[in-house]
Amino acid sequence: MEELKKIIRDVPDFPKKGIVFKDITTLLADGPSFHRMIDLLAHRYVGRGIQKVVGVEARGFVLGSALAYKLGAGIALVRKPGKLPWKTLQKTYELEYGTDTLEIHIDAFKPGEKVLIADDLLATGGTVAAVVDLVTQLEADIVECAFMAELEFLEGRKRLPEGKVFSLLKF
Ligand code: 5GP
Repeated sequence: MEELKKIIRDVPDFPKKGIVFKDITTLLADGPSFHRMIDLLAHRYVGRGIQKVVGVEARGFVLGSALAYKLGAGIALVRKPGKLPWKTLQKTYELEYGTDTLEIHIDAFKPGEKVLIADDLLATGGTVAAVVDLVTQLEADIVECAFMAELEFLEGRKRLPEGKVFSLLKF
């Protein structure tokens, strides 16, 4: 795990001064590391009846689609406003400054469908808490929220369903 962590690049002052951004594109770009990361995550969910993975725009699509393929599951997309063509359910959530909105198709799941939510990184938890809200409103059954990486000091998992958060690489 330490080897995978080392490949993630720290970018100081992105997207604004004082923030050290974890750039996971360096891990995605390295074939053996990307393969290992997906295998390690997928292994946790094999045999758990996952029917759909939910990928969060945009880096969550990369992780989500690879996991869905490995699990033989479908993938549902959570996107920024105005990108999805069909009827959507929306959730607006608070950021440090202002708000953001995410959308999902209203028919993304059948009631009770077992889903795995996937995103690249858990920071404050606001993004995936909004996704959890959308998925819950559509009456799907959340098996877990899976992340490539987690910034533990931000305690984002406290905003997500207890016992249903897993991250591979902890910072
Ligand atoms: P949160 O809502 O948990 O504060 O932020 C998580 C969302 O913002 C994720 O969708 C993630 O892609 C993005 N994000 C926030 N900080 C970082 C970071 O340091 N690195 C990466 N790769 N994504 C981040």
